[in-house]
Amino acid sequence: MASEASRDLGRLALNTATLGHNLDGYGAGWPIERVIDACAARGYGGIVFWRREIGQNAVAIGERVRAAGLEVVGLCRSPFLVGPQAPSGHEAVMADFRAAIDMAAGLGAPLLTIVVGGVEPGTKGLRHSLERVADRVAEAAPHAAACGVKLALEPLHPVYAGDRSCLVRVRDAVDLCLGIGAPNVGIAVDVYHVWWDGSLAAELARAGAARILGYHLCDWLAETTDVLLDRGMMGDGVADLRAIGAAVEDAGYQGFVEVEIFSAENWWQRDPAEVLDVIVERYRTAC
Ligand code: ZN
Repeated sequence: MASEASRDLGRLALNTATLGHNLDGYGAGWPIERVIDACAARGYGGIVFWRREIGQNAVAIGERVRAAGLEVVGLCRSPFLVGPQAPSGHEAVMADFRAAIDMAAGLGAPLLTIVVGGVEPGTKGLRHSLERVADRVAEAAPHAAACGVKLALEPLHPVYAGDRSCLVRVRDAVDLCLGIGAPNVGIAVDVYHVWWDGSLAAELARAGAARILGYHLCDWLAETTDVLLDRGMMGDGVADLRAIGAAVEDAGYQGFVEVEIFSAENWWQRDPAEVLDVIVERYRTAC
């Protein structure tokens, strides 16, 4: 972000995927406590976990984060709600969705990110799948509200539409929120997924500050080798991070700025201490 607030590390959050902890065999394998302390030592304000890292320890991990002076900013993520990788059947989807919400509540995380899943088997195009997503989010929203958890719909880059996210445009995410109409359902904006979208600023303004629940930073590498696991560090790619950050702020968002970099061959191969230092530097100079 271009404003002076960008230098306030209190708004900077680490998504632990950035250290490669989201896939077995990548990253340095630091225990969660070491990650928490390393973020706190550098002045980060928050941290975002993945469900697989938490197990049965949500309450204790949440307390450990706050004891270190950080906030648990959010939890990744819901199960896929539709599509070929979703749990089989409505009840299985909703049970896992509730489990994710309960874990977020246990952590003291105010936010659960939703990646909606791809095109429902046996259907074509996005419309049918998006309607089912709307139904399932609407069904889960009251339980989430009772738990004090907001649900952040994250549109993904269109390259994922088939198998991971039938929700690809911010415009469609805003429409989905407005259609569901629950006060605790909003959107998450991830640079990786929206950097190409010329309507971003207008759509964020339409969403309004109350529905913008998260802002995720990385960069899009012009010569990317893998659209899932070759994200760039801020400043190394072609996304206009200052313009995107300005659009998010102009829409009224004042929450955390979360760094989320999946990078199997580059950043996940480095010492996490170095990665955390580079993030701070790029956050101050490139965003
Ligand atoms: Zn994201």
